[in-house]
Amino acid sequence: MHLLVVEDEQRMASLLRKGLGEEGYVVTIASDGRSAVEITLAGRFDLILLDVMLPGIDGFEVAQRLRREGIHTPILMLTARDATPDIVQGLDFGADDYLTKPFSFEVLLARIRALLRRGPAAQPACLRVGDLELDPGTHEVRVGERQVRLTRTEFSLLEYLMRRRGQVVPRDTLIETVWGYDREIESNTLDAFIRLLRAKVETGSGDRLIHTVRGVGYTVREKGPE
Ligand code: CA
Repeated sequence: MHLLVVEDEQRMASLLRKGLGEEGYVVTIASDGRSAVEITLAGRFDLILLDVMLPGIDGFEVAQRLRREGIHTPILMLTARDATPDIVQGLDFGADDYLTKPFSFEVLLARIRALLRRGPAAQPACLRVGDLELDPGTHEVRVGERQVRLTRTEFSLLEYLMRRRGQVVPRDTLIETVWGYDREIESNTLDAFIRLLRAKVETGSGDRLIHTVRGVGYTVREKGPE
């Protein structure tokens, strides 16, 4: 079994390499987020141990990028933070489980075994709302028979809304999810992207798929008047 350990603290990385090696795992170390993504795209791993606090792009973003690339290798997040929003964010961004540092090595091994038993997640099913269809695996979006080309940002915005169909997603949540929690964007950038998306996925009739909830955010639901 080949594990990728993404950890920037050298001491921790060598402890994990040694400990996991003694358990019979083959271990590759990546010491920052960017190289973690590159190594994962180039290789084949059975499981990824992913630290959250990393230089450059953090563990949340690594998980999100890998899932967007269609990589479904199980991810166990190692986090020094135990605040609920961080855990929720990690799992929402594609992690399968998490462990808060400091952790016992025995517990880590048990979690690894549990994830390896489960194997890679099945390819996510297509998301559908009315005649709008989004395939998270292939990144294809269709309205009826018509294929729609979306930019990366438009795609993640739409995917996030479609995964929560019928729920009102607050503006801040959308901005954080799509542009990252540490990036400042103008509030009207979100509205501009929503306009672009609407132009691509809402057709002719004037009915809305992406509905504005004034003062709160946006929601995707079956076509209907605003
Ligand atoms: Ca770290």
